[in-house]
Amino acid sequence: MRIAMIGAGYVGLVSGACFSDFGHQVVCVDTDTAKVEALNNGEIPIFEPGLDELVAQNRKQGRLSFVGDIGQAARDADVIFIAVGTPSRRGDGHADLSYVYAAAKDITASLKKFTVIVTKSTVPVGTGDEVETIIREARPDAEFAVVSNPEFLREGAAIRDFKHPDRIVIGTSDERARRVMSEVYRPLHLNASPILYTDRRTAELTKYAANSFLATKVTFINEIADLAEKVGANVQDVARGIGLDNRIGMKFLHAGPGFGGSCFPKDTMALIKTAQDNESPVRIVETVVAVNDQRKRAMARKVANAFGGNLRGKAVAVLGVTFKPNTDDMRDAPSIPLITALQDMGAEIRVYDPVGMEQARRVFENVTFCDSPYECAKACHALVIVTEWEQFRALDLKALSATMATPVVVDLRNIYSPEDVTRSGLLYCGVGRPQPAAY
Ligand code: NAD
Repeated sequence: MRIAMIGAGYVGLVSGACFSDFGHQVVCVDTDTAKVEALNNGEIPIFEPGLDELVAQNRKQGRLSFVGDIGQAARDADVIFIAVGTPSRRGDGHADLSYVYAAAKDITASLKKFTVIVTKSTVPVGTGDEVETIIREARPDAEFAVVSNPEFLREGAAIRDFKHPDRIVIGTSDERARRVMSEVYRPLHLNASPILYTDRRTAELTKYAANSFLATKVTFINEIADLAEKVGANVQDVARGIGLDNRIGMKFLHAGPGFGGSCFPKDTMALIKTAQDNESPVRIVETVVAVNDQRKRAMARKVANAFGGNLRGKAVAVLGVTFKPNTDDMRDAPSIPLITALQDMGAEIRVYDPVGMEQARRVFENVTFCDSPYECAKACHALVIVTEWEQFRALDLKALSATMATPVVVDLRNIYSPEDVTRSGLLYCGVGRPQPAAY
């Protein structure tokens, strides 16, 4: 198959590289010329484990290329994927579909034969209808079908997720398009990955329902964690105790500083807006968003509680700023409101992240950027684990304790054993675990 992938960001680049690895001929198109130039020079603009090798191999085999203009790629393509951003629209929280519609307009002039146009971007119900209308109005003669194929990969494990998905969802009522999509995903058919064929609107809604459900699960365990602290229980054992029930499942039951990232905040908000517009409000999701919004400042208060509620004159070391480990993505990262709240309380902030420092420098002001966790902790009054990078699990706690002004660890990801930390001479405070006396 010949595939054009519009958008070479986290989703478009991974999908394009994986499709080319399946043996398809893929051209990734991006309007960001610096990105295209970097990719053509063999540089990968994002941090995603394994992506550089995958891109290099497939470029070498001549199956993957990058261009700034859609024209030729769209003319040749059997399938055109739209994988551009759908951020929250400033002001009202609806999904901003301007990039999707611009991409749809960009391809109209080039359609020459039957082409399947696929929205891989996360888009509200009805967007596929609108994409179809845009193209039909511009090209009444064109032969095409618009399909919804939402993406469920997770940053940090994106290649594995793409090649071994829990499921693939394909929304179309067009038989020809269905056959083409089945060819596109043939290697996964052979892998026995479940493929769910449904109509377009159902596929669009499925993606929002999935992300909102996961956000709800996280928020639920976070509230149970707060209660556990008050009643002297341990949320990790509660999570295991409920998660071993197959109906509930263990995943997404890790208490922490609240969800963030490039998808959950905008997707929960967009679902709320779609639901309100259709006079069918999703009140559970509305509550999830409200509870989660308050959580970052609550986590800053958790740090302040170790110092009688006041952080004036205190230095706080923040370890991990990306929204999760194994990515450099800082979009809507919990570290952002958390650091702002700590600064509001008077703290001086030092920051270290294994791969997110370049992005962090663009996001944070009045912060000291450090080259290692130990440098970050130096002379600090509290050390806060915000993102659970693997390397933080293996830190020499005694060495940290020796370098800090006051030995306080606030572990917002519960990566340490409280006993180990306490034995190293540090005061330990986790999430939803029995709290030290100072609290
Ligand atoms: P991104 O911002 O990393 O990438 C989008 C890319 O599209 C950018 O490089 C941008 O320059 C390019 N672009 C915008 N308009 C264009 C146009 N008209 N022509 C060509 N290129 C254009 O975004 P992302 O994280 O890859 O997300 C893309 C979509 O996938 C979003 O709808 C998102 O919700 C969804 N999604 C993301 C993830 C994730 O983990 N990031 C997972 C599943 C689904």
